[in-house]
Amino acid sequence: MDNFKVVPFSSLSETVQNLLKSATEVRTKAYCPYSNFSVGSAILTEKDGKIYTGCNIENATMTPCMCAERTAVAKAVSDGYMQFKTVAVVAHQKDFTAPCGVCRQTLSEFRSSNGDIEIYLSKPSLDNVLCTTISQLLPLAYVSYKKDSLP
Ligand SMILES: [Zn+2]
Repeated sequence: MDNFKVVPFSSLSETVQNLLKSATEVRTKAYCPYSNFSVGSAILTEKDGKIYTGCNIENATMTPCMCAERTAVAKAVSDGYMQFKTVAVVAHQKDFTAPCGVCRQTLSEFRSSNGDIEIYLSKPSLDNVLCTTISQLLPLAYVSYKKDSLP
C-alpha cells in the first residue's frame, strides 16, 4: 500500500463522499452467507453524474458469485451508461479492499473520456480512504482490437 495515497474522508469532495456513503449503504444488502464478507460498490457515471450501486452476491456453487463492482457495472451498463468517472469500494478487513482482477478488467472497459477511472477504497467507518485509478491498478489492461472499431 506504500505507493497509494491515503487521505482522510473529510478531505474528499462532497461527490466522492456521497459515493463512498452509497457504497457503505449498499454493502448492508450483500448476499454473502458463505464468506460473511460483505462488499459495497458505487459508480459515478460520466454522463448525467448518476450513481449506481452494487453488492456482492454469492452462490452455493461459488462460480456464479458476483462482486459488488460488477453488480454495479451491470446496473449502469443496462441503463445505457458506459463511461464511469469514479468508483467507490467499501468493505471491512485489515487492509483496504481493492477490486479483484476480474473487476479491474471489467471496469477498464468503461473508462471515462479522459481514459481513466478514479477509484476510492474505504472501510465502513469511512475514516481514511485510499485513492487510486484503474490505470494504476491495471497497467497494460487487455484491449481487443474490436473495441476501437466500435462507434
Ligand atoms: Zn471482483
